[in-house]
Amino acid sequence: MSESRPEIRRQGLGVSAGIAFGRAYLIGRDTLKAPRHHIEADDVDTEVARLYKAIAASDKQLAKIKEKLASENESDYHIITAHQMMLHDEHLVGAACGYIRDQSINAEWGLRRAVDDIRGVFDQIEDEYLRERRNDVEFVFERVLRNLLGRDTGPLSPPPDAIVVAYDLSPADTAQLHKAAVAGLITDAGGKTSHTAIIARAHEIPAVVGLENVTEVVETDDLILIDGGAGIVIVNPTAATVSEYREEQRRQVAAGALLHSMRDLPAVTRDDHQIQLFANIDGPDELDDALDYGAMGVGLFRTEYLFMGHAELPDEERHYQTALELIDRLGGLPATIRTFDLGADKLAPFLEAANLQEANPALGLRSIRLCLTELGRPIFHQQLRGLLRASAHGPLKIMFPMISGVAELRAVKAVVDEVKVELAAEGIPFDPMVKLGIMIEMPSAALTADLLAQECDFFSIGTNDLIQYTMAVDRVNEYVSYLYEPLHPSLIRLIGGVANAANAAGIPVTVCGEMAGDPVVAPVLLGLGIRELSMSAVSVPEIKAVIRATNVGDAQALVQKIKKLPTSAEIRAMVSEYVTSIGPPRKERKA
Ligand code: PEP
Ligand code: MG
Repeated sequence: MSESRPEIRRQGLGVSAGIAFGRAYLIGRDTLKAPRHHIEADDVDTEVARLYKAIAASDKQLAKIKEKLASENESDYHIITAHQMMLHDEHLVGAACGYIRDQSINAEWGLRRAVDDIRGVFDQIEDEYLRERRNDVEFVFERVLRNLLGRDTGPLSPPPDAIVVAYDLSPADTAQLHKAAVAGLITDAGGKTSHTAIIARAHEIPAVVGLENVTEVVETDDLILIDGGAGIVIVNPTAATVSEYREEQRRQVAAGALLHSMRDLPAVTRDDHQIQLFANIDGPDELDDALDYGAMGVGLFRTEYLFMGHAELPDEERHYQTALELIDRLGGLPATIRTFDLGADKLAPFLEAANLQEANPALGLRSIRLCLTELGRPIFHQQLRGLLRASAHGPLKIMFPMISGVAELRAVKAVVDEVKVELAAEGIPFDPMVKLGIMIEMPSAALTADLLAQECDFFSIGTNDLIQYTMAVDRVNEYVSYLYEPLHPSLIRLIGGVANAANAAGIPVTVCGEMAGDPVVAPVLLGLGIRELSMSAVSVPEIKAVIRATNVGDAQALVQKIKKLPTSAEIRAMVSEYVTSIGPPRKERKA
């Protein structure tokens, strides 16, 4: 703690939980200025050549970083691939060369102007996720600029246990930081879906973003304290604050260890109801964590990550090999693979090239709707061939996202039947009885669950989208996030209705949205008749602890009481009180 400087507290967005202490390691982004000057007409070709040389050098550096990452983390790898693609994008390079030639300006200035044009377009975008992508353009700019100026492009090397403080961090920088064992990250910019946040969570580095001007408040070597769960950053904490948070850190570490020690205990309630806990994963690289945290299989594999950030479409073989890897590594545990859910905030190059220009993409041609169009159907067909072939090798379930009702389900099953006939004619083995299920993530599907249950093998309730479409609240829009409430009475009724329909038809029903990993919500789901939950791997131990402390009979009584309450705030208060009373070990601070 510092004697001379006062304690400063800042609230940001907590994007990766955990308490961290360390000395500030500032990464300045504004120290590098692009020099600007006019050039003689004779020098134009030389400047263009300088630019291309710097781009080639940047490309090589990124390829090197990727080489090191390839086997370690898929998502970082794809983000860096996307940066390499940007390096060769005509909108950037062509425009920069155009400025150099037409306005007789140096390469650095030409590049800066091209980047500013692209930033201007991004600034107009309402979608938070896409707007944040403008930072990727800046990261690419900075790397090329460093090469143009002959400045150091080497990896960041903060001392171990430092808290990295930056305006924003490039995914390439963040991906290297975990190896340097930093204690935590804080940034001025960023939202929950920024790449820094995604990577920090994947590497379990406590992180707070969206702090606005923390880089102006912090000085190198200041002592910094982060509470990544609560989104709190304290600069120069007093002795009393440090001891309070050391205590909390000890409590969280002990709670984490206790929860982890329950890894091999069954997820069974006090009145002997067996609950299945599965993991949601975005790639096979997340499987080890899923198993380590005690998941009993994969309840949701989001295959769209095989498309995002890849210039080439995954073909049948890639889908087959990926599914096979999942089946092999799960060694008999179930693997539920969801066909690609692209569109809205999840874009792939083929979709960007189609330039759909939708006013409301979340309500537009996304997900299964895309798969049933001329554009998406051949790609869907390839995926189904790969998945069906893999079904011959283990317990694979195929799940379809964003099904609106029975007509759409039948249309999808007709495509599956076509693929089966094709494979049979070619003599290629597959499981003819492979389980086909659907995500229930639209009110239209939830309200017709009894009809849908007659025509598919399982349900998985995607509450992330079900909340979005029920509450009419964009799930990535911070202005209306106060309405994004899993315990709204409407959601309780919808989920209860879906559970009843599935149980009456005798088909399994899982909840796989983020609310499945919320310890306060878990007893409500049990009381509504849900017996399978799928969540981020890191949440599995805490949910298991809640389940082992819960009695389904009590949870049902609790649900009867909350059904009479008119607001989410009242429901949350009653449920929180219940969870506190049953007293399972909790990792995060209790509210
Ligand atoms: C959901 O909508 O709840 C879900 C699990 O799918 P995703 O978050 O990928 O849309
Ligand atoms: Mg969804």
